[in-house]
Amino acid sequence: MRFGKLKQKTGIVHINKLWCKGCGFCVKYCPTGVLELSKEYNHKGYHPPYVKHADQCRLCKFCEVICPEFTIYVTDEEEENHSA
Ligand code: SF4
Ligand code: SF4
Repeated sequence: MRFGKLKQKTGIVHINKLWCKGCGFCVKYCPTGVLELSKEYNHKGYHPPYVKHADQCRLCKFCEVICPEFTIYVTDEEEENHSA
């Protein structure tokens, strides 16, 4: 077995800031600390998250599942490169 050749998958996080209600669940429960709430306001008056550490996303999609507003989705970096 050659585990040294395995490449860690990296996700690309997409955030629809308009739908966010600033609950912070995605920030709190991301296991690798990718997200942080921004200082800016969306049109509802909430602070949406932004991607602070993009290279740390492990594509677990937990943020996508836990967001009550369906604001976040995560795609595979390799898929994005192939479709470009
Ligand atoms: S997919 Fe997982 S690692 Fe990536 S931002 Fe969401 S919770 Fe964090
Ligand atoms: S979990 Fe969803 S609604 Fe809550 S802060 Fe994150 S993006 Fe916004």
